[in-house]
Amino acid sequence: GDVVSADRLTDGIHLVVDALKLNEVEAVYGVVGIPITDLARLAQASGIRFVGFRHESAAGHAAAAAGFLTGKPGICLTVSAPGFLNGLVALANATVNCFPMVQISGSSERHLVDLQRGDYEEMDQLAAARQFAKAAYRVHRAEDIGRGIARAIRTAVSGRPGGVYLDIPAAVLGEVIDAQAGAASLWRVVDPAPRQVPEPAALDRAIDLLASARRPLVVLGKGAAYARADDQIREFVERTGVPYLPMSMAKGLLPDDHPQSVASTRSLALRRADVVMLVGARLNWLLGHGDAPQWNADAKFIQVDIASTELDSNQPIAAPLVGDVGSVMQALLDRTGSGRITVPSQWRDELAARSAENVAKMAKRLAAAETAHPMRFLGALQAVRDVLRENPRAYVVNEGANALDLARNTIGMQVPRHRLDSGTWGVMGIGLGFAIAAAVESGDPVVAIEGDSAFGFSGMELETICRYGLPIVTVVLNNSGVYRGDAAASESGDPAPTALQARHDLMIAAFGGKGYRATTPDEVTAALREALALGKPALVDCVIDPTDGTESGNIAHLNPKGITVQR
Ligand code: ADP
Repeated sequence: GDVVSADRLTDGIHLVVDALKLNEVEAVYGVVGIPITDLARLAQASGIRFVGFRHESAAGHAAAAAGFLTGKPGICLTVSAPGFLNGLVALANATVNCFPMVQISGSSERHLVDLQRGDYEEMDQLAAARQFAKAAYRVHRAEDIGRGIARAIRTAVSGRPGGVYLDIPAAVLGEVIDAQAGAASLWRVVDPAPRQVPEPAALDRAIDLLASARRPLVVLGKGAAYARADDQIREFVERTGVPYLPMSMAKGLLPDDHPQSVASTRSLALRRADVVMLVGARLNWLLGHGDAPQWNADAKFIQVDIASTELDSNQPIAAPLVGDVGSVMQALLDRTGSGRITVPSQWRDELAARSAENVAKMAKRLAAAETAHPMRFLGALQAVRDVLRENPRAYVVNEGANALDLARNTIGMQVPRHRLDSGTWGVMGIGLGFAIAAAVESGDPVVAIEGDSAFGFSGMELETICRYGLPIVTVVLNNSGVYRGDAAASESGDPAPTALQARHDLMIAAFGGKGYRATTPDEVTAALREALALGKPALVDCVIDPTDGTESGNIAHLNPKGITVQR
């Protein structure tokens, strides 16, 4: 048509961008290609921050982390078939971790795909996504784009958050419709995650149970961190005096040096507690499913969770509290004056005594590691810990086997939602995507503490970090191997399956970032301090003793035991 009538027209691409803006989406993480390149360009031109990655799973992990950090669904944009599948890894991981995220993917021509005529990047993406996501939707008409985006956002963030797939075929992106009708078809989601409060009887049941406890324990999970109920949680824990255990991503909800934290006496706390209140934490493998002998077989459970189907998944829940953590904790506070729930001093003393023993044991290990040559994990991590203490606002991203176990226990968090890690799946590959999201969403510095194997899954995103000039320091704990780096080569001369070799500091230099190689804790300290002060992309390759580290870290028991394989 002529120029005048084109003014009165819009298309699918514009409608997607307009719908995202109307719903206050500020950043989109993705990888461009057919059919979404113009969508990314238009998003950027309209003021949305488009962050272009090298691989879709890293872009997806970034969107998931953005969802956790902001409480609004992170948006990932992918191309058809292979790009879509790469992103799907992150969508599935987001769903498992209860992070709100929407993966918007272009897809190929429906009339070709559905008859399997062999289209460019042919795949039934909707069917593929469905089993890995909280929900999957497809838009067939440009006039439904606003509805599709509203529905995706609502589904991702309400109730138990998760990953939502939104399929938009190329033909819909290119569909031209009347601009006024298009604008009228968009809407803004009102109160995307409505609050939910349990009834008074349920609250009283929980309070009575907690009040009857002789050895009560609160477990805080990442659902509690996600809920942004920091004040209510702190008030409840401190008013009742109940000892609490932070799951890894709940660290910092209360500062890790809090006197009521039982992080240093976790096994005793689980084994002995008689009433356990789970707050946004599942009784999954990370908590031994609540089973004896790791847990007291007679323990009674209170569970605060937004998802009612989570309750009774592993153990009988004596006092269910279905609702959002913020509302539930507030309601509990309103009904428990001081003195209603108290903690017998015997329990506090028992925990304190064990904690003192464990801290002393750990202090010896830390002291030995400080002077060890070659450097050990704990030598490097103490240096990282000390520099992070000078930078309490820095975000910490953490993945690996030993790198995860040891960093989690060594590095305390002071503020909520500043630690992002391998999460519910124990997945590798989240590292740089999570780090990029933390930097983009907050503008604050990020330290990504990575095992050398874990780093490799998203290592190419160093280029993304450098291209956007993000204040991320990647610390690679490089012991030249998966788990360890000391396995002998095979008889054929091939390296062992667990072997790795890399100078990661040289890698970042190729992209214009600053690389450091550290062989002693002092060098780690100096490098990390300088890198954080510069506020520029940097990587510290920490050369770790290849004999340091244990197979599979803390979860070696999950390896199948058949006829013994020589390690
Ligand atoms: P962790 O791994 O830290 O133990 P999980 O991911 O296992 O934590 O558990 C998080 C739980 O929190 C999930 O069962 C989820 O349904 C719940 N959850 C998420 N958001 C909220 C919220 N706002 N209020 C209450 N529960 C929530």
